[in-house]
Amino acid sequence: SYGDLRNATDGFSSRNLIGSGSFGTVFKALLPMENKVVAVKVLNMQRRGAMKSFMAECESLKDIRHRNLVKLLTACSSIDFQGNEFRALIYEFMYNGSLDMWLHPEEVEEIRRPSKFLTLLERLNIAIDVASVLDYLHVHCHEPIAHCDLKPSNVLLDDDLVAHVSDFGLARLLLKFDKESFLNQLSSAGVRGTIGYAAPEYGVGGQPSVQGDVYSFGVLLLEMFTGKRPTNELFGGSFTLHSYTKSALPERVLDVADKSIIHSGLRVGFPVAECLTMILDVGLRCSEEYPTNRLATSEATKELISIRERFF
Ligand code: ADP
Repeated sequence: SYGDLRNATDGFSSRNLIGSGSFGTVFKALLPMENKVVAVKVLNMQRRGAMKSFMAECESLKDIRHRNLVKLLTACSSIDFQGNEFRALIYEFMYNGSLDMWLHPEEVEEIRRPSKFLTLLERLNIAIDVASVLDYLHVHCHEPIAHCDLKPSNVLLDDDLVAHVSDFGLARLLLKFDKESFLNQLSSAGVRGTIGYAAPEYGVGGQPSVQGDVYSFGVLLLEMFTGKRPTNELFGGSFTLHSYTKSALPERVLDVADKSIIHSGLRVGFPVAECLTMILDVGLRCSEEYPTNRLATSEATKELISIRERFF
């Protein structure tokens, strides 16, 4: 209930605030009955009403399970003491935070900064996990689910640095219940990062699609291995992370690669340039401008797995 949730999150105080993103504000909370730490995402939806069907939709999201998805534990839709409608999703808590923090530690405040750099193999494992969960959502669910907002802040890491994708199904939920604010959020320049990850066809009225997710995955892959954000000032104008990477392959791959990869955890003589060229090439083929030219998630997953087998 709303009351329980208010207690659990200590009245949603800023002390428990983890961050706010495209779809809502996230708090860390303790569910006292289960003694379980959870993440509570309070949705910023404008349209009200239809609580029953909202809860039914959330129930169907709970059925979507995969080892690389953040588990949706429950949903809550209620009216507070002042009569305001209120909706929240409750997820398992991921102690190692978001991939975004690990890729850009210099931007993170000291107390939350990761204590190490991710190695090449750790990054490759994360990339394979994300690709395989997209493949699951796109092909193996009873109806294809496009994530629509894939980016490093939606890839959360557990204690063992295994990746769990969050916010899946949220696009569908919001499209159904509050289409207007969903579209506003997708196109809002105020949402950090989203612009750089959204497929170009979304900018000209394209509907959310699985190919759109592949584009975002390609950008994510390029970012993971170059360490550059797609919205970096380097890429002002029409020059993108895609063209920046493409112009450097294969001769200058070590110039564009994230330097921390080259300096951490590789055995002597490891063919780093060759390995990075192959990974970045997958990223480039996922982030092709025209949707039909992009790889399918199943192909991207297979290629990344065969790169891992070949080099590790
Ligand atoms: P964004 O739209 O930027 O991804 P979110 O609203 O999804 O933002 O989340 C905001 C922040 O809250 C994220 O950067 C992430 O670090 C954190 N967060 C979200 N869900 C969880 C979770 N289940 N466990 C731990 N941290 C989370």
